[in-house]
Order: sequence, then structure tokens, then C-alpha cells
Amino acid sequence: MKLVLLGPPGAGKGTLATLIKDELGIMHISTGDMLREEMKSGSDLGNEVKQYVESGALVPDEVVIKIIENKLTSDEQVAKGFMLDGFPRTEAQAEELDKILEKIGKSIDYSFYMDASLEVVLQRLTGRRICRDCGAIFHMTNMPPKEAGKCDSCGGEIYQRPDDNEETIKKRMDVYGENTAPVVEYYAGQGKLKKVNADQSTDELFDEMMANVNADKKANQD
Ligand code: ADP
Ligand code: ZN
Repeated sequence: MKLVLLGPPGAGKGTLATLIKDELGIMHISTGDMLREEMKSGSDLGNEVKQYVESGALVPDEVVIKIIENKLTSDEQVAKGFMLDGFPRTEAQAEELDKILEKIGKSIDYSFYMDASLEVVLQRLTGRRICRDCGAIFHMTNMPPKEAGKCDSCGGEIYQRPDDNEETIKKRMDVYGENTAPVVEYYAGQGKLKKVNADQSTDELFDEMMANVNADKKANQD
């Protein structure tokens, strides 16, 4: 299964991707996580992308396309299937992705459009907290860690992403409307878009998405 997760910041892409990849035994590929790893490591690439990520702007297409191309063509785990989270984020990225996949004899099965209201995404993003060590996602009111400031899974320190402040969130929403909304149209045009209601709770959304996956599996068997 080769899936793409689309939706505004705060729709729950990272949270749902983690649940679905475990359920289906596929890879979770998040360009946001990969970029934050690079920044943490202090690599040249990390330093190059930092200003973009921290201000809520998009990292240039060439840079993220290269990262994704390396991943898809060199990681053996890709054969199990994958779920892309945060990529493609521009139409140019969507077109390049199709070309990269074609070269390795693969294609996207479909894309989930996680449709969420502005009110819900703002509440989620301002309360979001992340584990510094394992990347687990929490929320101060919706999903607080059992022990304040500590990750439930690994005990790591929980922090707030610097780009989860009100001003940068606003910028990311604008960038989303301008650059990523057309990607939804791109997949719709290919007949590969499934829209789901991302205002629902995590459990409800997970059920809705898995129902789609299972219906699709069944249709392909028949
Ligand atoms: P969110 O979906 O909550 O905005 P991500 O973790 O997916 O968070 O992305 C964080 C930041 O990383 C983005 O604001 C952007 O700067 C950068 N980024 C991630 N993926 C891409 C991409 N495909 N193209 C350009 N920039 C990206
Ligand atoms: Zn952790």
C-alpha cells in the first residue's frame, strides 16, 4: 500500500500516520520529521533548511525532492509500502514524486485528504507537544502525557515545536492554502483522492480511514 496524507497543519497527519503504519506494517515517511532530524544533527543540510522551517515557509522543492528521492530509492523498507506525510506539498513536488515512482516501477494507490476546520487545527497546534527523543505527539488537553513534561513511550523530554506559535501557525496556514491546496486537486484529477473528516477524534478518524483502506483492498481483490 502506497499512500499520501494531505491536509492542513494540525489535521493530524503525524498522529494518524503513526497509527496506520503500525496497523498496515508499512513505512511512515515524514519530510517534517526528516528535516527536524537534519536540523538537530547540525548537518549542512540542517543549517540550510532551518530558517525556512522555523519561519513556517516551505523548504525549496529541490531540497525536499532530493531527500524523498534518496529515501524511496535507497531504503529497503520501502518495499513494504509507505505512507507519505507532509510530502508532496506543492504541485511540482507531486509531479516529481510520480516521476520518481515511475522510475522504480511503483505508483501511489491513493491520497487521503484530511479535511479539518480552522478552529480545530488552531486548537490542536497551539496545544501540541512533541517528544524530543522519539517524536511521539501529545496535546496539553486532548492527549496529555501521563507524567507532565515526560514522554509516555520513552520517558524523553516533551517540548513545543518552535513553529507552533500563533504567528508561525498563521503563516503555515497561508502557505498551505496557496501551495498545498492545489495538490488536493492534483490527486482528485487522477481519481485518487479520498476525503475524510479530520475534525473527528483520533479514534473516529482512524476507523474512517481504515474502513477506506479495507474497502479498497476488497475492491481490488474482487
Ligand atoms: P505541519 O504539517 O504541522 O506544518 P511538518 O512537520 O509536516 O508540519 O512540516 C514542518 C515544516 O517543515 C514546514 O512548515 C516546512 O517548513 C517544512 N517542510 C516539511 N515538508 C515539506 C515539503 N514537502 N516541502 C517543503 N517544506 C516542507
Ligand atoms: Zn518519546
